[in-house]
Amino acid sequence: MPSPSLVIAVDGPAASGKGTIARGLARHFALPFLDTGKLYRAVALSLLRWGGDPDSEFAALRACEDIAGLMDDPELKSEMVGGIASRVSAYPAVRTALLDRQREFAATPGGAVLDGRDIGTVIAPNAAAKLFVTAAIDERARRRHAELTAAGLPVHLEDILIDLRARDERDAGRDAAPLLMAEDAMLLDTSAMNPDEALAEAIRLVEGRRRP
Ligand code: C5P
Repeated sequence: MPSPSLVIAVDGPAASGKGTIARGLARHFALPFLDTGKLYRAVALSLLRWGGDPDSEFAALRACEDIAGLMDDPELKSEMVGGIASRVSAYPAVRTALLDRQREFAATPGGAVLDGRDIGTVIAPNAAAKLFVTAAIDERARRRHAELTAAGLPVHLEDILIDLRARDERDAGRDAAPLLMAEDAMLLDTSAMNPDEALAEAIRLVEGRRRP
C-alpha cells in the first residue's frame, strides 16, 4: 500500500529515460501516473491539425481547448509533434491553461507520479520525492534513434542529436517554468544504466525519501 500521500516528481530532458522510470515507479508504488509531456504534445497536435501558427501564443492557447480527444493519438509520439510541443510549451498562457489539471492530478488522494520538466519546481513543489533524471546527450540520441528505428521510422542519428540539442536549449532557456533541477531533487544519471538498473536505483532513491 502506498503511504498516505506519496507524490513523486520526475523531471529531466528529452530521452533521458524519465518516462520509463516514472511509469515503473507508478507500478512499483501502485500510484496513478501522468505523463505531462503528453499534454503539451496534444496542444501541438491540435494546432497542427487545425493549421494554427506555432509562432502565435494566441493560436497555441486556442489549441489548448481542443486536446481531450487527442490524448491517445499515436501521432503524439512523433518527433515533429515533440518539436512543436517544445515551442508552444514556452508560452506562459499555454502553461497556465494546463496547470490546474496537473495540480489536481498531483493532489490525487494517496499520491501520484508525474513526469515532465517542471513537476518538482512548479506543479508539485511539495512532492515527497523528486528525481531529476538525465543522461549524456550522445546516449540520449542513441536511445531515441534505436526507439524510432525500431518503430520503422527512417531517422539519422545526427539529426536526432541536433534536434535534442535544440530542445534542451529551448526547454532550459525559456522564461516560463524552464527545465531546472529543484533544489531538493535527487539527481539520477542513467547514461551507464540499462532500464532495469535505472528503475531499481530510482526506487531506492524514492524509498530513502519516503516519509514514515
Ligand atoms: O516529455 P516530452 O518530450 O513528451 O515533452 C514534450 C515537450 O513538452 C518538451 O520538449 C517540453 O518542452 C514540454 N514539456 C514542458 N513541461 C512539462 C512537460 C513537457 O514544457 N512538464
